[in-house]
Amino acid sequence: MTLLEGKVALITGGSRGQGRAHAVTCAREGADVIIVDLMKPVVDVPYRLATSTDHAETVKQVEALGRKILAIEGDVRDQSTLDDAVARGIADFGGIDILIANAGIWTQGNFWELTEQQWDEMIGVNLTGVWKAAKAVTPHMIERKTGSIVITSSVNGLEPGAQYAHYVSAKHGVIGLMKNIALELAPFGVRCNAVSPGAIKTPMTDHQAAWDMFAGHEGGTEADMIQGGYHYGALRGTTFLDPQAIADTALYLNSHLAANVTGVTIPVDAGHLLMAGVNANPVKV
Ligand code: NAD
Repeated sequence: MTLLEGKVALITGGSRGQGRAHAVTCAREGADVIIVDLMKPVVDVPYRLATSTDHAETVKQVEALGRKILAIEGDVRDQSTLDDAVARGIADFGGIDILIANAGIWTQGNFWELTEQQWDEMIGVNLTGVWKAAKAVTPHMIERKTGSIVITSSVNGLEPGAQYAHYVSAKHGVIGLMKNIALELAPFGVRCNAVSPGAIKTPMTDHQAAWDMFAGHEGGTEADMIQGGYHYGALRGTTFLDPQAIADTALYLNSHLAANVTGVTIPVDAGHLLMAGVNANPVKV
């Protein structure tokens, strides 16, 4: 018996990275899947966003598991795209049981130097996009008096991060949003929780600019990043984690195993948040 037998899961940002791990894990556990993702760059990020090839690869992997998938091109900032995805999911698959609000972007800049465009794109995708996805599935879940929503926050929903105040604000924001959704939907039997990934190896983190950052010079390599990752967690032998670690946690939250769990945030960070850390910039004058 699989954990999501006969369920339907809507996953934003499902073309690659953690989103693909969620899609494939849901399918493996018996769910049909709907993914919504961008197919062209519409936000300004220092790495490439998903492509139609990524989208097609998720479709292939889900179908190889014998499950159905609806792959929709769209932006989580557009309410009508999400409403249409929900309507198509209900029409084609008979209902939606699970939302994994995973789509997100990452950019950097001192808070006083961020442009309004960078701020608005970050809040628009990482916070408002989550609200819109939850808004799209909620009337249906209320009507059926069942459902599970998992929101992808970050350890930066629980701690600051120098040079990405906009990301930190959005990721703290979704934890507040998650608690409110959990509270407002509890009377209808719908649960809502968050997962807070630490350092995960996906195209968001695994690219030349990140390699250079870890190497401390241009021409860095993936090996520099992996080496740097060993300084991030507390658990023995951990560096950048596989996206499956996040998919496994969402699987638990979306399954009957978490039937009495709502309103919580689970960090999946190899113990990163246990450590207060050291000041990399000595405070001596
Ligand atoms: P990723 O870049 O591989 O995946 C993000 C996906 O979201 C991509 O497929 C992208 O095309 C999609 N997306 C971006 N903007 C979108 C939009 N406006 N509309 C629809 N889709 C959009 O990175 P990932 O690591 O898989 O990220 C998944 C989530 O995990 C994000 O919310 C991210 O902030 C969060 N997170 C990642 C890490 C990490 O270390 N990778 C750590 C903490 C939290």
